[in-house]
Amino acid sequence: MTNAFSEPAWTPEQILAFWENEYEILGSPWRQAFLSNEYVQAMCLCHPENIRKAIQVRKKVKEALAYIYQIEDDVAGRNKRLLDDFHPSHAIGITNAHHGVRTTDPFDPKREDLLFKCVMCNLKLSLLRKSKIANLENTCKSCTGEDE
Ligand SMILES: [Zn+2]
Repeated sequence: MTNAFSEPAWTPEQILAFWENEYEILGSPWRQAFLSNEYVQAMCLCHPENIRKAIQVRKKVKEALAYIYQIEDDVAGRNKRLLDDFHPSHAIGITNAHHGVRTTDPFDPKREDLLFKCVMCNLKLSLLRKSKIANLENTCKSCTGEDE
């Protein structure tokens, strides 16, 4: 997961402040335990929006963290489904690129039907390079001087 948060990541102190606001003010020893708690530490790597949601429904920090991970899995799964549903061409494009299929590129050297062989220079060239002069068929524009 990334840390590209829309708001800054929370510190353990911020999580404690939110928790105390939701439930109860802790005594000093409990505060220290809360701040150094491994689940609270792990929570600092999560989005504050998800931390708020989780703490509001789960008082115990271990269960709150599990709740956050559940939210993140749901979001990741939903985003993947959105991409598949609404951008199928994106997935197809990736598949074709992997197979070296390029059907729309007129300069694709693998497209024999888009090529001709110049009788003057013997090069296989794109039809776009073919001479337009009527009596010089199968001659490229370089050989006829049409580029000038
Ligand atoms: Zn030529």
